[in-house]
Amino acid sequence: MSAKRYIIVGAGPAGVHAAIAIRNRDGAGEIVVIDRDHDPPYYRTELDTYVSGSTSDAEMSLYPEEFYRAQRIRLRLRTAVAKVHPPGRTVELADGEQVAYDALLLAPGSSPLTISCPGASNPRVMTVRTWEDARKLIRLVTETDRPVVVVGGGVLGLILADGIRQRGRPVTLLEREPRLWAPVLDETASQLVQQGVRQRGIDVLLQEEIAEVVGADGRIQRVATSAGRTLEASTVVVAIGVRPDVAFLDGSTVRTDRGILIDHEFRTNVPDVFAAGDAAQGYDPISERFLVVTNWNNAVEQGKLAGAFMAGDGSPYRGVILSNSETLCGVHVTVLGLAQATGEGFVTLKGHDRGKGTYRKLTLRDDKLVGALLVGNTSGEGMMKKMILERKPTSIAEVKSKFLTGLVLEEMDT
Ligand SMILES: Cc1cc2nc3c(=O)[nH]c(=O)nc-3n(C[C@H](O)[C@H](O)[C@H](O)COP(=O)(O)OP(=O)(O)OC[C@H]3O[C@@H](n4cnc5c(N)ncnc54)[C@H](O)[C@@H]3O)c2cc1C
Repeated sequence: MSAKRYIIVGAGPAGVHAAIAIRNRDGAGEIVVIDRDHDPPYYRTELDTYVSGSTSDAEMSLYPEEFYRAQRIRLRLRTAVAKVHPPGRTVELADGEQVAYDALLLAPGSSPLTISCPGASNPRVMTVRTWEDARKLIRLVTETDRPVVVVGGGVLGLILADGIRQRGRPVTLLEREPRLWAPVLDETASQLVQQGVRQRGIDVLLQEEIAEVVGADGRIQRVATSAGRTLEASTVVVAIGVRPDVAFLDGSTVRTDRGILIDHEFRTNVPDVFAAGDAAQGYDPISERFLVVTNWNNAVEQGKLAGAFMAGDGSPYRGVILSNSETLCGVHVTVLGLAQATGEGFVTLKGHDRGKGTYRKLTLRDDKLVGALLVGNTSGEGMMKKMILERKPTSIAEVKSKFLTGLVLEEMDT
């Protein structure tokens, strides 16, 4: 029997960890990872610290290039996949080349959303997704000491604002919602993060959007906001969210919704075509919905597991749950499962220690922990995640004594 040919689209954490998982199980198979990026795989999560100057070029690489050679994983960089043809078991590259596969992993990650106000096409309005984007941002902010406007108060906007501020540039952050990282943080959590943001010297304008970028000849003079304010700016960084990068699947038989729909074995609806990472949309047993989860650990875990299934050696996957740990301008935040759920059937327990900047919100349903939002002190996070995933029966008394001891308890929401 000839060696199996594995094609992986995307050399992010999902694609790279899938390739390693395959090699661990199939010593003879041919493994090709295709990516349009110019740089060999790197820590996308460190792009903000690269911008701040605290992560060096050498620290950015996921593995040294010899690693891929030793593992016989072929990286085809600067190569975009334009189409997928499941009936012929090929992917079509942008230059028309057809590449055959026996098993295909789709791990194309996500692309940043952008703004559409007047002036949005100015070359100094940018998003940050790749290492090259981060280099460009450093170039733009170091050639002038004029201020930078960051659009978006979610995780990406906050960490990029922090990175730029650490380069010594004045930064104003615009967030159109009344609080930061609004889909995840409640009012108390947002205020604690805001304290950290202000301590870093970043101005935050809530409920305010970018209305116009005013400039000429490739330069920006100022930004007008929806509240009628004018902000001086040399550069505008847009961080308003991402969308799974699945346009190249249009016209193929691979089923997509927001992302690529997968089952518990990372299989799409098409035989021998798998998906993992930011672009995959898998079943979340807690919310009972198909979810796109866009974070590094999820991509690593899914890549490893998908690779195992591709090599015929997978073990059942419990499904995706929302799980994110971030340090936002010095403030630790962890979110697990249904941290924002309220209404019938849900019980919410909250505790705080304002002096220490600690806040915890735990959500139960049917006597089981289903969600947690932790700010400041995130201890117990591992145990909470296990309880959520294993749907371990618990009680309000047990949750209070395990996770809220020493905190001032707020009135319980039921
Ligand atoms: C600045 C920044 C900071 C972040 N910080 C954090 C953090 O602190 N914590 C955290 O959990 N997450 C963070 N993230 C998110 C995290 O990086 C992503 O969730 C993770 O990289 C997703 O991995 P992935 O393998 O699914 O996709 P990606 O890492 O996006 O990799 C997908 C790859 O596929 C390639 N590709 C796409 N389409 C094609 C095509 N048609 N042909 C060829 N190649 C293609 C892309 O070039 C890309 O290299 C951050 C993201 C950014 C941008």
